[in-house]
Amino acid sequence: MNYIVFDLEWNQPMDGKKSSERKLLFEIIEIGAVKLNEDKKIIDSFCELVCPQVYQEINWHTKKMLQLKKGELKQGKKFKTVMNRFLKWCGTEDYIFCSWGPQDLTELQRNMQYYRMEPLSNKPIPFYNVQKLFGIQIGEEGSAKNLEAAVELAGLKKDVPFHRAYGDAYYTAKLFMRMEEDLLKNHYSYDLYHIPHTKKDEVRISNEKENILITRGVAKKMDITTSRQMMAINCMKCGQKPVRAKVRWFSSNNKILYAAGYCPKHGYIKGKLKIRKSEQGEYYAEKVLTYTTEEEIQKIKEKKKLLQKTTKN
Ligand SMILES: [Zn+2]
Repeated sequence: MNYIVFDLEWNQPMDGKKSSERKLLFEIIEIGAVKLNEDKKIIDSFCELVCPQVYQEINWHTKKMLQLKKGELKQGKKFKTVMNRFLKWCGTEDYIFCSWGPQDLTELQRNMQYYRMEPLSNKPIPFYNVQKLFGIQIGEEGSAKNLEAAVELAGLKKDVPFHRAYGDAYYTAKLFMRMEEDLLKNHYSYDLYHIPHTKKDEVRISNEKENILITRGVAKKMDITTSRQMMAINCMKCGQKPVRAKVRWFSSNNKILYAAGYCPKHGYIKGKLKIRKSEQGEYYAEKVLTYTTEEEIQKIKEKKKLLQKTTKN
């Protein structure tokens, strides 16, 4: 399997219209990528400018960041043309996308949708978020370093400019190449531009620490909270077997729910479930189950008690 490490530059208008009033908030103006083979050796590269169709004026921040020369973008081809060339370049062999941060794959699909291109997929797409992996690698899980800081920290040579699609893809690839297989094994991210629509397409990520489920989309919130399967607390070490509840699901704001369970073999498990709304207006949930301690369970119990008291008053 190949790795397509890519990066986008986009332009954003600055006229203060709310993003919900817009069909396209970020217009892609450059696509850059590096292709790695399964040994993570660079075997090819891609870099093309896109001539803007939606926002003719490039906002000053983008201009400054990208150091665009006057008229440079006009030399680019239209998005559809560049995108088709990019997909052709990606090739017919299996590949997985890699990017710095979680946003690029979403914006790529949003731009494709805007131009009514055939979607990359109609379900969640697995990818490697190299920014997240880098955080885990340096023992700062959850930190989101910017690319240049990461390159400095890793002691890489800065031999191409930053803030251009090719350069950023190249550095992301350099950082990715150094990652251990073990780290990559259980750390896929999923782009949720298209959420799962069937039970079969639901996303399950299990590693020694957590068990994550991204459910299929449903019409009403109630369809989630009344679903046994979606609300089950499972022990992943016992092979997804539901366990006895210790604290039943409760919520302080109807968006995040908490619960806890107990597996006689593997101990306490706490659950956190977030209900989200997709771009298409459906509800879906992200459920995270984590092994925990008795003290932690006690805290959850107290939280629930306190909440019940305040709602009664
Ligand atoms: Zn168990």
